[in-house]
Parts: sequence; structure tokens; C-alpha cells
Amino acid sequence: MDKNKKIKVLYFAGSGRSGSTILNIILGNHPQIFGGGELQNMCEVYNATKICSCQAPLINCKFWSSVMNDWLSKVDDDNIDSGLKKWGNVEGVFSLKSWLKMYFGIGQKSKEFKEYLNSTTEFYRSLQYHSNKEIVVDISKNPLRAWALEKNPNIDLRMVHLVRDGRAVAWSLKKNAKEQNRKRPTWRAAMFWVVINRLTNLVRSKVQHKIVVRYEDFIENPGIILKQIGLMSEVDFSSIINKIESNDDFVIEHVMAGNAIRKANTIKFQTSNSEGWKNKLRPGSKSLFKTLSFSSLKKFNYQ
Ligand SMILES: [Zn+2]
Repeated sequence: MDKNKKIKVLYFAGSGRSGSTILNIILGNHPQIFGGGELQNMCEVYNATKICSCQAPLINCKFWSSVMNDWLSKVDDDNIDSGLKKWGNVEGVFSLKSWLKMYFGIGQKSKEFKEYLNSTTEFYRSLQYHSNKEIVVDISKNPLRAWALEKNPNIDLRMVHLVRDGRAVAWSLKKNAKEQNRKRPTWRAAMFWVVINRLTNLVRSKVQHKIVVRYEDFIENPGIILKQIGLMSEVDFSSIINKIESNDDFVIEHVMAGNAIRKANTIKFQTSNSEGWKNKLRPGSKSLFKTLSFSSLKKFNYQ
């Protein structure tokens, strides 16, 4: 890889549970693209219970351990935790301080900020090197990370604001919480969905190359949406569109920290799974969600 060339990062921002794992896998089958998954969660590498999609525990996965060792050899940090703590200071999505600093450009000439930029750059370079792919897909979703990438002189950020109907997101969160014996009230899911999409709108206004994609539109018309993402990111997705049209398998490679789908070896593009919430989410939950997030639903053309 050319060290002087900017690293193209195709970054997905927005709410979780919006279908980014599927997009990560599908785009990762492009010959120039590595689908990295939720790259802000690299600390999972040291969580012994986390399995890579290659079926090895992440810590033993040949690919991820090579990436991490390479990255650590190029930055000043002694270990991954201290390196990732620096990421957290700049791009902590739940930290008002981080947002205010980014918004007003505070501390962006400091040594810490330069170290942060360097650390992020070296991380993506290691990914490019070990995957032997030029472009990295990052589905971290965190909009503040997108803003920080836009400020990085070594990164060529291409941002997709991925939106899915908030009621589908709420249903997915509820289902997941139930499996873990927790509760996820509708009002909380609605607030989360509204706030994260508004923050993503804000960041989108600061980014040069960007697009809004509704997950439902991608499922309905994958060819059209991939062409639009391709125009924005200057990548030719015709090979991927052909694969979808001929119902080919999409291979899943070394994906970490997405949802459970990544544990299969291959997937096929499926058209039918985006509407299940309509029958399953209770009517009371639906109307509460609509009341709490009416203007955001309308903004993204959800009825
Ligand atoms: Zn692996």
C-alpha cells in the first residue's frame, strides 16, 4: 500500500440495529474492500469469550493478532487498552465533553490529539496491510468517530448515514434485551434513536463526502442504493450488484463485534427480513414511539 496515499474509509454512522452488519459483509466481498466490522470496539480482542467469524477466539485469530501487534509496534502506547483509552477521550459518543471539544475545535493542536490521529491512521494502515485491501469499511456507527475521521489528514472519509425505521430498531432492541433477561422500554429506544440520528445529522453537515441510506430502500432496491453509495465513495460496486442479482454466496471474513449473523461462513442477500417488527411490536409501543419521535420519523420519510 502507498504510504502517502490517504486511506479511504467507508464509514457507517447512525443507530445500532440498522442493518450495518449485513452491509459490512456484502461490501466486504468487493475485491478492494475489507469489511472490518465495528472497529471502535477493538478492546474485544482481549475478551476471551469473543469469537471471530473465522471461529477462532479473537485473541487467537491470526488476522486480528497480526493487525494488533503491527499497530502496537507503530504507536507509543504500551498496550491496546491505553491506546484505546485515547480513542475514547476524543470520540466517546456519550461524553458531552468530547462533543463540545469537537464542536468548538478545542485541543486539536495538542500533542494528545496528534497522537490520537496518528494512532487511528496506523490502525487503519495495519488493516490495509494485513487484509491486502485498499478500502476499509468501518461500521462503528458512532457519529463522533466519523467527525474525528473527517479531521484526520491521512483519512479519506466517505460517510454513510444509515437509517432504519426507529420502530424496527426498537423491536430489535427489545428482542435482544429479552434474550438477556433485561428490559428495554419503548420510550428509551425512541429517545436513543432520535438523539443518535440528530447527532449523525449534525456530523453529516460537517463532512464533505456523505450520503443518507435507508436500510429498507437498500433491501428493496440494492442495485440502486449500491450505485448511490458507489458514486459518493468513488467505488464501482457492479461486481457486488451482480452477486446479489445472481443470488451468490457472500463470504464472511474475520468480522468482529457485529451481530450474530457474522458467525455463519456465508450469507445470501435476503429481501424479506426488514418488516417483521410490524406484526411483532405491540400497538401501544408503536404509537408511543410515533408520538415521541414524530418529527424524526417524518424527516426520514417513515409513515
Ligand atoms: Zn478471524
